[in-house]
Amino acid sequence: MNNSHSNRCKITFFVFSIFFLFSLLQNSAFSQNTEKKKILILNSYHNGFKWSDGIMTGIKDVLIDEEENPVVYIEYMDTKRISDETYLQKLYELYQYKYRDYQFDIIIANDNHAFDFLQKYHQQLFSHTPVVFCGVNNLEDSMLEEEDLFTGISEEADFRGTIDIALQLHPNTKHIFSVVDRTTTGMALKRMIQKMIPYYRDTVQFDFLENMSIDELEKHAGQLSGDSIIFFLSTYKDNLGHYVSLSEGNKLLSNTTQIPIYGSWNFLLGQGIVGGKMISGYEHGKMAGQLALRILDGESPADIPVIKENQNKYMFDYNQMQRFNIQLTDLPKGSIVINKPPSFYSISKHLIWSVVFIVIGVLTLIVFILSRNISKCKEVENELRQSEELLRTFMDASPDIIAIMDGEGRFLEANPACIKLMEIESVDYRAKTYSDLVQFKSNHEDNFLMYLETDENTWRTGAVSHFEEVIFCSNGTIKVYDVTKVPAFYPDGRRKIMFMIGRDITERKQAEEVLRESQERYHLFFKLLPDAIFIYDDNEIIFTNKAGAKITGCDSSEEIIGKDIFCFSNFHPDSQEEVRERRRQLLNGEKDMQPLIEEKYIRRDGVVIDIEVAGVAFWHKGRRMVMVVVHDIAERKKTEALRIKTIEQEKLLDKAQEYDKLRTEFFANLSHEFRTPLNVIFSSMQLLDQYTANHLEINREKLNKYKSVTKQNCLRLLRLVNNLIDMTRIDANFFELCLKNYNIVSIVEDITLSVAEYIESNHLKLLFDTDVEEKMMACDPDKIERVMLNLLSNAVKFSKPGSTINVNMYDKGETIRICVKDNGIGIPEEKQLLIFDRFRQVDKSFTRDHEGSGIGLSLVQSLVDMHGGKIFVVSEYGKGSEFVIELPVKRVSEETQTDLNRNGEIRHDNMESIHIEFSDIYM
Ligand code: ADP
Repeated sequence: MNNSHSNRCKITFFVFSIFFLFSLLQNSAFSQNTEKKKILILNSYHNGFKWSDGIMTGIKDVLIDEEENPVVYIEYMDTKRISDETYLQKLYELYQYKYRDYQFDIIIANDNHAFDFLQKYHQQLFSHTPVVFCGVNNLEDSMLEEEDLFTGISEEADFRGTIDIALQLHPNTKHIFSVVDRTTTGMALKRMIQKMIPYYRDTVQFDFLENMSIDELEKHAGQLSGDSIIFFLSTYKDNLGHYVSLSEGNKLLSNTTQIPIYGSWNFLLGQGIVGGKMISGYEHGKMAGQLALRILDGESPADIPVIKENQNKYMFDYNQMQRFNIQLTDLPKGSIVINKPPSFYSISKHLIWSVVFIVIGVLTLIVFILSRNISKCKEVENELRQSEELLRTFMDASPDIIAIMDGEGRFLEANPACIKLMEIESVDYRAKTYSDLVQFKSNHEDNFLMYLETDENTWRTGAVSHFEEVIFCSNGTIKVYDVTKVPAFYPDGRRKIMFMIGRDITERKQAEEVLRESQERYHLFFKLLPDAIFIYDDNEIIFTNKAGAKITGCDSSEEIIGKDIFCFSNFHPDSQEEVRERRRQLLNGEKDMQPLIEEKYIRRDGVVIDIEVAGVAFWHKGRRMVMVVVHDIAERKKTEALRIKTIEQEKLLDKAQEYDKLRTEFFANLSHEFRTPLNVIFSSMQLLDQYTANHLEINREKLNKYKSVTKQNCLRLLRLVNNLIDMTRIDANFFELCLKNYNIVSIVEDITLSVAEYIESNHLKLLFDTDVEEKMMACDPDKIERVMLNLLSNAVKFSKPGSTINVNMYDKGETIRICVKDNGIGIPEEKQLLIFDRFRQVDKSFTRDHEGSGIGLSLVQSLVDMHGGKIFVVSEYGKGSEFVIELPVKRVSEETQTDLNRNGEIRHDNMESIHIEFSDIYM
């Protein structure tokens, strides 16, 4: 790969080397064979003479455009200024000397003087050099008869052509003036014009302005009449020898006269002449150059005929045409017009194409930009449409009223909510003002007037306005709207657009009104509330009501605001700490509520009152506050105390009534209890009386029976009376115990055993048991006997035959327990406590199975109490009862024992006591 690349490089280098060497050889050969041509251009006049300058440019454009640029020598003979023979001779000598070693390939003679000079000295100066002449006037064929090396172009100015067009453009012309001097050229020109005169004999008169000084010429020219034209010819040399160039002369005439100037040489154009059929120095030069080239290319001058054809063209100056009111359409076809405002056709092709390309480019760019703009526009349009749709959707969906109006107050847009509110659904509201809408909705006139007024106010202030509008609807309802109006102005201050948006705040307003009323109510409520309200911010009271002032003993609530409650009064020493702690817990957020508690409050005036206090914490304006409600409960307390007292009294009354009732019952029972044995005794007595009255024989058995019955009923009466007496003595505190230290176990056991026989005769079983044999303690044996006999008599009374009665004793250390247990009928639970009350009986009916007064257990309890003990019953209805006595184990001193011994003799009547206590039981 690398190898092939290197080879290719080598070949390329070789080819280029060969080509380079070949080019060098070629150039060397060319330089040897083709020596540069030498051309001499011999000008008649001087550099700057327009005519010959034009010719020079034409020659150069042809010759110097050639690839092989010749060497050009230029000579100016300056014969306008000097042209006498001596001068010409000197020139000859100069050229002879100057060009003695030169061999020109061709000589171009410009104008008559050069042509004449070469005709004269050609042989001597440039004997074999061909001559191309140009700009030669009045050339005649005879002049070239012996000149084989001469050829060229004669300068044939078309005077007739110029005069014809001048007369055509100025048909009223009567005079043609020509300015001529006395130079050779001037005289030749005069002659040429004179030749024209016959052609125009009938139409115009030819005159010459000649042999005048420049001032005179100026003066004459200025006086020329309006029906004249000037035919300008050439340079002017005045009679004082002053030379006036073509342009100077032309300008001079143009500025002086008000008549048009025409000429036949194109270099005059632009110097003040209107125009004419003109000969062009440049074209002339180009033709001379082309002839020179033909000769340089080898053609013989003798073979090239002299060109005499009229080469002239119509040429005009647009500025001068304007001056003399000549239209472009007046000119002959093909006329050249200088100073014409550029038209599309007059712009060069290159320029046109450039412009075309630029225009196409610009148009393409514009098309591109436009298409981009169009697509952008479409995008924007789309976005606009979308945003408009969005806006429309928003407006349509908005429950708020939205409207847009122009600066004249005409509706541009209004959303459905707005239309509905104004009730203009059936009206094409667009472009209508409120005043227009009144015609359709006269019942809305007041509303429209109000809208108009608020609009006008908004326009006047020039700023966004915000207010509430109260709108009266045709169904009689009133609506309140929160309205915002936004005015927009043009930069010059004119009204442009008004945006309006309104929200229905009727419900809010109503709610506000309700709230305000409720606030007022609450305020009134707080004010009139009999309870004191204190609102704390920290430890400072920020609100209290009238009751607050009253409870603290202040004159007004203002006295309290801003202070601590402890400033005015104090709480009871027992409550102070609690009050502070409860308030602290509420304020620091440990608790949100403190329940109602009662406190004792010391008023400012020192009066202690009962109050009820509750507290609750709440947030207000970002701060934790505490509301304390204080209720004065003095009255309630009083009422409560009264109520308790009443209840107690009621209880007492009930008790008294109950007691009364019991006593009544007791007396009824007592009567019964007394009458039954008395009846029995009385009946026995009557029987005995019958026996006695009738002298009847009574047997012993019957007599014993009557005796026994009478005795038992007497015992019953005795028991009854004893119990009544004891009860009365107890009530009157006359009943005393005869305490002595005894072995309680043997006392109880003895009593139990003493009734054993009696009990067993009632078909019952009696069992005594004790866990202690001896227990010495202070007691009254008679009372213990009464107690035991009572309990045993009840056990017998309320037991069924065949059942067992147990008497048990238990040593409890400090106490001794005596239990009397039976399997009898039992006592209902609700009666168990009552039976110890006086006159209480479970079954009070006269039809009860057993006799009794209801005093026994009451007496038993009193006797036990007097011993410092207690008695209770454990019973289950239908199953049996157990009476339990707890007696304290105490002892009495010897002295006390002696005192009490006085009553000891009762103990001897044990059997009698048994009979008395058991007298209720019928055997
Ligand atoms: P009474 O003289 O009527 O027996 P008590 O005071 O001795 O008066 O007894 C009061 C009442 O207690 C009796 O009427 C009886 O209803 C009831 N009671 C007493 N002991 C017993 C017992 N062992 N079993 C059932 N009921 C009894």
